[in-house]
Amino acid sequence: MKEPVHIFWFRRDLRLNDNAGLWQALQSGVRVLPIFIFDKNILDSLEKNDARVTFIHQCIHYLQQQLQAIGSDLEVFYGYPLEIFKHLGEQYLLKMVFANEDYEPYARQRDSQLQDFLHSIGAKLQLLKDQVVFEKTEILSNTQSVYTVFTPYSKKWLQKFSNKALEAYETEKHWQNFHKVSHKSNLISLEEMGFQKASQSFPKPEINELILKNYAEKRNYPFIESTSRLGVHLRFGTISIRELARKAENLSNSFLNELIWRDFYMMILWNFPYVAQSAFRKEYDAIPWRNNLEEFERWCEGKTGYPMVDAGMRELNATGFMHNRVRMVTASFLTKHLLIDWRWGEAYFAKKLLDFDLAANNGGWQWASSSGCDAAPYFRIFNPTEQIKKFDPQLIYIKKWIPEINEFSYPKPIVEHSFARQRALDTYKKTLESLK
Ligand code: FAD
Repeated sequence: MKEPVHIFWFRRDLRLNDNAGLWQALQSGVRVLPIFIFDKNILDSLEKNDARVTFIHQCIHYLQQQLQAIGSDLEVFYGYPLEIFKHLGEQYLLKMVFANEDYEPYARQRDSQLQDFLHSIGAKLQLLKDQVVFEKTEILSNTQSVYTVFTPYSKKWLQKFSNKALEAYETEKHWQNFHKVSHKSNLISLEEMGFQKASQSFPKPEINELILKNYAEKRNYPFIESTSRLGVHLRFGTISIRELARKAENLSNSFLNELIWRDFYMMILWNFPYVAQSAFRKEYDAIPWRNNLEEFERWCEGKTGYPMVDAGMRELNATGFMHNRVRMVTASFLTKHLLIDWRWGEAYFAKKLLDFDLAANNGGWQWASSSGCDAAPYFRIFNPTEQIKKFDPQLIYIKKWIPEINEFSYPKPIVEHSFARQRALDTYKKTLESLK
């Protein structure tokens, strides 16, 4: 006789507390077997020293310890999700699999295949909203259409938010419903999966109230630790968006506004999944990008001769983080000054950012290249030198990342600003006018 279990599958929600899908699973009246899959479909495309794999491995280790401490365990697999579920279906009497919704195209396809398989064995997949405050088509205009402009979306979002108590899912009250085990399992090592342990440190999953209180005033200055650094924790669900949004509501409207941007881009990706490959505004796919490989490499390495751009790229390469203001400047520089396809920059950020999130990264890049839904107009081109005067006037950030700034070895500008600006304006204008 196979043992009946319900499965809870951890994905981008690596925490036991305030977890919508886990809470639902623990309510179901059947013992819950928690699992995690190191997915080869994802891991095989990553570099072997990818720090995010180390981060996830640490989180999984911690989750496993927490579950073992309460007499349960986390079953951890390394392989292809569908095959693993076939194996679980042979081992257990499966009726329900619970997980939290993931809005990215790969995840949607993976979940739809799993749904078909589960259906074939008489089981079901139930997906819950956990990663965002409002998802999919929860925020609609008065005419019931999806918003593609941020400001009206954010107003509706705030209206709905203030009417809704964002209560935590008290999973801890139901921990007795986890599947019990008599012996503890071991965790597969990074090396067994072909990865090296990254040496860098990760920000703590702590909400710093002082940073939130001062956020509006200080958030734009890259030389001070003035933003939350919670991106990586929101990405992997090591903090709850509900908890963070409740704090933000009390401490900072400006911070809450950034969480709304996060929901907005996830909503855009869900409703317009083609943005993962092409411009939201189709006409921008016609821009004749220069795509000069040597210039792209200089941008990646932080050797363009524009200090704000170079400092940002060096910070990214060294730490997996880049300040938001500098993300905007580097992205604008690549797409406008160098006329390099935004997808090249998007892919580079995707490889390097600890907090990489397809929806936000794609949204940020399409914003900077003006091809996005609520993007900067194409004639808005950041002047990277003026940005220093405004946001790092004492060159504290710049000197931190470019110690040789005043030396002969620091490169001359890759291109002259006024020339590059005009070239971008002419190229965008000509292309867009030719399509009218
Ligand atoms: P805080 O300023 O403390 O903000 C708190 C949280 O709000 C962030 O962690 C993030 O989850 C969310 N947030 C803040 N700003 C935005 C925004 N503009 N859009 C969507 N969500 C936002 N953010 C990512 O999370 N992942 C990415 O891959 C990503 N790529 C970007 C690429 C470009 C070109 C640009 C211009 C922006 C990108 N952003 C991305 C948005 C923003 O830069 C980062 O969220 C922020 O810098 C992360 O630092 P923090 O955690 O200290 O954020």
